[in-house]
Amino acid sequence: MKRVLITGGAGFLGSHLCDRFIKEGYYVIAMDNLITGDLRNIEHLFKLPNFEFYHHDVSKFIHVPGELDYILHFASPASPIDYLKIPIQTLKVGSLGIHNCLGLARVKKARVIIASTSEVYGDPLVHPQTEEYWGHVNPVGPRGVYDEAKRFQEAMTMAYHTYHGVETRIVRIFNTYGPRMRLNDGRVLPAFIGQALRGEDLTIFGDGTQTRSFCYVDDLVEGIYRLLLSDYAYPVNIGNPSEITMNEFAEEIIKLTGTDQKIVHKPLPKDDPKQRQPDITKAREILGWEPKVSRAEGLKITYEYFKNLPRERLFDEVA
Ligand code: NAD
Repeated sequence: MKRVLITGGAGFLGSHLCDRFIKEGYYVIAMDNLITGDLRNIEHLFKLPNFEFYHHDVSKFIHVPGELDYILHFASPASPIDYLKIPIQTLKVGSLGIHNCLGLARVKKARVIIASTSEVYGDPLVHPQTEEYWGHVNPVGPRGVYDEAKRFQEAMTMAYHTYHGVETRIVRIFNTYGPRMRLNDGRVLPAFIGQALRGEDLTIFGDGTQTRSFCYVDDLVEGIYRLLLSDYAYPVNIGNPSEITMNEFAEEIIKLTGTDQKIVHKPLPKDDPKQRQPDITKAREILGWEPKVSRAEGLKITYEYFKNLPRERLFDEVA
């Protein structure tokens, strides 16, 4: 049985990756310090003989007994609300954390895939973003801690690949959504759905003409799985190129949830990217991957998830 270590395994994406690797017949070790994660995301796996959970901070020395075939480094605060609250931990997990994972991979002769992000492109001057674009990032801006941690993480990963011959993969993830997102993570989708379910107005920051593209989590996991098993060591964008303005998106959520609340506008936060859209030519050509789940389908599943949460969580878990 192949053995895989998934850091950030109790988080939104990490928990879906645990599910996928269990389904594929792997022995899965999830490692997480629960700083933004939630054990409820993986509690259904605890009874399985091929699943283990390590409560551990990846930025500290990592010890995992036995062999490892793959390491997926997904530990990191991922939403602005989180990384602004814990900026130093964010920088540490993107630097010390990946250094520990790569060192472990070297010892175990394991292949590593790291979760990078579209944020490495910053507020892009090129649209859509190809992997060759170097980005437009403000290192001392509010998002700098996250963007630069992820850029450093990519550089460290390439260095281990080049100098130590560690097998590495880099996935640049664009906005992803689905069940197990947190209501209070500050991202637009759980924010809108949470507001609709609580009977509040939907808040748009800025004039609502800024665009985003949303990838459903199952599509992302498929792309990550294919990239891990591929022989391509350079960054690959995984995301859904279908773009939508925040005004249109709010209307879609109003229709989906049947809420009769209004849309209200608030000032745009500093350094908020105006446009984000992946160029997925590489993923198509190298991995034969493209998103399959339409926004209508994905939103319906995600809405059902939030609607079925215990009602008090809708109120307790708002920031
Ligand atoms: P998440 O916050 O739900 O999950 C991150 C997990 O990492 C949490 O369970 C958290 O407790 C854990 N963690 C953080 N620091 C840790 C540490 N030092 N040691 C051990 N565990 C630690 O976020 P997510 O959306 O699932 O994101 C997962 C990864 O994907 C992150 O690396 C993020 O940067 C990347 N990513 C996500 C998106 C997205 O749209 N969700 C987009 C781009 C990149």
